[in-house]
Amino acid sequence: MNEFISVEEARQRILERLEPLGSERVFLSQARGRVLAERVASPDNSPRFAHASRDGFALRFQDLRGPDTRLSLVGQSAAGAPSAREVGPAQAVRITTGAPLPPGADTVVMQEYCRVDAASNTLVFDPADAIQPGQWVRQIGEDMAAGEVILESGMRLGAADIGLLAGLGRAMVTVARRPRVAVVSTGDELVDPGTPPGPAQIPNSNAYLLGALVEEFGGIAQILPIAPDNPDAIRQAFVAAIAGADLVLSSGGVSVGAFDHTREIVDALTGGMDFWKIRIKPGKPLAFGIARGDTNPTPLVGLPGNPNACFVCFHQFVRPAIDRLGGYLSALDSDPSARRPTILARLAKPVKTTARRRVYLGGYLEDAGSDAQNPRPIFHPTANQESGNLRLFSQATAFGIVDEGVADLEAGDEIKVEHI
Ligand code: AMP
Ligand code: MG
Repeated sequence: MNEFISVEEARQRILERLEPLGSERVFLSQARGRVLAERVASPDNSPRFAHASRDGFALRFQDLRGPDTRLSLVGQSAAGAPSAREVGPAQAVRITTGAPLPPGADTVVMQEYCRVDAASNTLVFDPADAIQPGQWVRQIGEDMAAGEVILESGMRLGAADIGLLAGLGRAMVTVARRPRVAVVSTGDELVDPGTPPGPAQIPNSNAYLLGALVEEFGGIAQILPIAPDNPDAIRQAFVAAIAGADLVLSSGGVSVGAFDHTREIVDALTGGMDFWKIRIKPGKPLAFGIARGDTNPTPLVGLPGNPNACFVCFHQFVRPAIDRLGGYLSALDSDPSARRPTILARLAKPVKTTARRRVYLGGYLEDAGSDAQNPRPIFHPTANQESGNLRLFSQATAFGIVDEGVADLEAGDEIKVEHI
């Protein structure tokens, strides 16, 4: 249990202990950003009826006989107000976009290519381009066939998916339950933001950082009161957190300092932690285990106190955990974070790190422009990579990843980058 494990092993060991939480039904207006927990098939063909995709005239293709074709206008079909009248030889019906194609017609010509002779109620057709049979008609089932699977369980619903579900006539949808994630902050030095800090105190920023990350990645955050650095208070905070949450995060007290009590509490509540040391920088001490409470087993993640360690470890370990609990990509049964692409970039300036751990730098990407010799984007690490520097990830939009075994990188060297 005193092993020093890799980032991948830590993530794997967390994920293999977690199961999706279950599902609930919500109205479509509440479904954006939620994870779909059903497989959605189209109940019908889409479109359900053939209709015009341009404003113009519906007619029979065979009646078009070159310039100055004349057809008599026999009615109109508007969106929502179709014409039942059959279009016969040498006849046409005025039609608007979305209106059903009247019986007998097979083609729509755009009104830009036509003139109506009002006196004789005749359509004079003068095509600028060649017309194809069936042009400007959306056919039945062209978009989706009845019974076709359109959305898979485990995907996150974006605006276009919500529009699609509404288009399928759905008022409600089954989505995965959002994990409730409690955030415990430990530290005698902490005060709530808004309370003036004493001479040796600092505002509790981690709770709000973690709470915001939880909400950003689909959980429901519960920020608990600050626990001072004493074992009883920390134990009580964890017990309260476990009672109302599906996942408990804490910050601080997992290292080897004289006042670091979180780790022993996590150890006691889980009947023995799974691990607590990861070859990652920032974030080496991270305690993980499953508390066996009276109700459901609750995973506990004791994050380090340094704000940037919290940020990096949230993305590398907690975000995949929330994804798993929240059913994200459940149909694939793999590590959801493995689907986040890593891109290769070139370093803007030299970087010195430690060879003993995987290092996550904060920075941003710049387009390579039109430099054909060097087509990779450029990764700019931000100036101060200290794990306690509060500004670092506010200024960053990407992680630069320096693998174990590498310590010195030069400007122009290749570096792996992950979007944040
Ligand atoms: P620890 O992991 O408890 O040794 O804390 C490491 C560093 O992170 C110390 O400088 C702490 O003051 C700082 N720290 C711990 N908890 C928080 C927090 N909730 N918000 C901001 N900084 C914190
Ligand atoms: Mg502390």
